[in-house]
Amino acid sequence: MLTTIPRGTKDILPGAVEDWLYLEGKIRDICRLYQFKEIRTPMFEHTELFLRGIGETTDVVEKEMYTFTDRGNRSITLRPENTASVVRAYLQNKLYGDGNVQKLFYIGSMFRYDKPQAGRYREFHQFGVEAIGEQDALIDAEVIAFAAHFLKSLGLKDVALKLNSVGCPTCRTAYRKRLQDFFRPKLEQLCDDCRSRFERNPLRILDCKNEKCQAASEGAPEIVDYLCDDCRTHFEKLQQYLKVAGVDFSLDARLVRGLDYYTKTAFEFKYEPLGAQSAILGGGRYDGLIEECGGKPTPAIGFATGLERVLLALEKQNLLPQKQESCDISLIALGEAARSYCFDMLNKLRQKGLCARMSYGDKSMRAQIKQADKSSSRLAVIIGDDELAKQIAIVRNMSDSEQKEVPLASLLEELSADK
Ligand code: AMP
Repeated sequence: MLTTIPRGTKDILPGAVEDWLYLEGKIRDICRLYQFKEIRTPMFEHTELFLRGIGETTDVVEKEMYTFTDRGNRSITLRPENTASVVRAYLQNKLYGDGNVQKLFYIGSMFRYDKPQAGRYREFHQFGVEAIGEQDALIDAEVIAFAAHFLKSLGLKDVALKLNSVGCPTCRTAYRKRLQDFFRPKLEQLCDDCRSRFERNPLRILDCKNEKCQAASEGAPEIVDYLCDDCRTHFEKLQQYLKVAGVDFSLDARLVRGLDYYTKTAFEFKYEPLGAQSAILGGGRYDGLIEECGGKPTPAIGFATGLERVLLALEKQNLLPQKQESCDISLIALGEAARSYCFDMLNKLRQKGLCARMSYGDKSMRAQIKQADKSSSRLAVIIGDDELAKQIAIVRNMSDSEQKEVPLASLLEELSADK
């Protein structure tokens, strides 16, 4: 137990951390281009926020939350996603104050009691954006183009964008009824989850991964045929703008979210080689959420992407940068007096901004040269009793083994000159 990590979590070890830093760097670069500003919210919130902000009938809330009572008897939940927290922060800190749309992004850990497998974890990391305070379909297109640009900037290929509109509470009422009429005679064929979704959240039956439910959904009525004028115009404009931006997409009537505060645009980027975990980025409009969380009605749209899945896709396509670990200088000391001299030099080189190292323990020249080689040092600086007596050091170029003598008096200056 003591040496075993909890199921569904992962250590990110040296060597892998570099991949994460690379990805996070790309994220920060692109967020700057699109003028999204970083926000950091707590890892845990009052449970109530997620019940409201995600919805009590969703799988995340019903089955996947890490909820506990703290010592002050409050119900607390580790965040399973970050949109609700961002909306809470937006309201609590009155970010709407300046009247402008707020463009925010986050990177961080999320927690879901999910069934762990490749690309699915209990602690995972999301990069997400939220644009709060604008209803123009132009911003929907901008956010989707942003997501496409982000994936493209990593070099990822074969990623497909699926698009749908889930309408608004007005047009969804009629559609919901039609959908229930469609599924009522097929209730027996649905999985247990979908049978309970039938009354509470029938749209969700459409995106159930169970084969029987998918078969039963064949020929189901499509929400796009039920959109009200406002939602239809918005959807048409969005498609026009995406074409202007050169973003390819296909329409997918099964892409749904069942809750009232999800409105209009829904989208997902899929990378099929990840199989059941092919959804690498998903998002949509949530014009009802801010009001649900206690604010004034405020339109908003966002997306979230799972960084583990993006990294898996990058690995599959061999797109992760090569790791080059190297050190500028290895100091090779022979004898105790030389070791003290070299330790002093080591610290001075580091103060000058050079990566420098020396071996521990009293090792032979051969062993130390071997370690210098292993650390990919550019130069080895060899100092023994003889060199100390002559007040010189031998500086060896590790790539061609060329050596030269350098007076100790000018050694620091010379080593730091060709930094
Ligand atoms: P969602 O918040 O469920 O819309 O998920 C957004 C994105 O987060 C998905 O497209 C995945 O890339 C990622 N994701 C969701 N759940 C997990 C999980 N358990 N493990 C890893 N990534 C996940």
